[in-house]
Amino acid sequence: MARPVKEWIGDTDEQRAPPRVRLRVFDNEGGKCHICRQPIIGKKWALDHVIALINGGENRERNLKPVHVACHAEKTAADVAEKAKVAARRKAHLRIVDAPTMQGQPFQKSRKAARRQQAAANKLPIPQRTRPMFAPKEDST
Ligand SMILES: [Zn+2]
Repeated sequence: MARPVKEWIGDTDEQRAPPRVRLRVFDNEGGKCHICRQPIIGKKWALDHVIALINGGENRERNLKPVHVACHAEKTAADVAEKAKVAARRKAHLRIVDAPTMQGQPFQKSRKAARRQQAAANKLPIPQRTRPMFAPKEDST
C-alpha cells in the first residue's frame, strides 16, 4: 500500500500549488479535463478550483482539478455570474436596497451658455477636402 500523502493546502488564496501537487492532481484525474472530460495531453491546462475561491471554495488540493485553459475561461465566467446571482438573492432576502440614483431635471443652463451652444449649432460646417492633401506619387510610365 502506498504511503498516505499529506494534502497540500495553500497558505493564502494566491499561493499556487507546487509542481509535485500539480502532477498529483493531474494523475488523480487520469490526465483528463475536469470540465469536458477530454484528455489534456498536448493542450494548455491549468488547475481549477472546483468551488471557486470567490464562492467560498478553499485553496487546497482536494478542491483542485486539471482543466483546459479554454474550458477554464468559460467556467470562470460562470463562477462570476453565480457569485453575482447569489449576492443579488441575499440582498433581496435581507431587504438591502441599492442607494437611489440621482433623478430629476439637470441644472438650467445660463443664458450665456445657451447662446454659446446655439452659436456652435449655427456655425457653417467645415468644407470637406475633395482632393487628398498628399497624393501618392504617380509613375509616368
Ligand atoms: Zn476541457
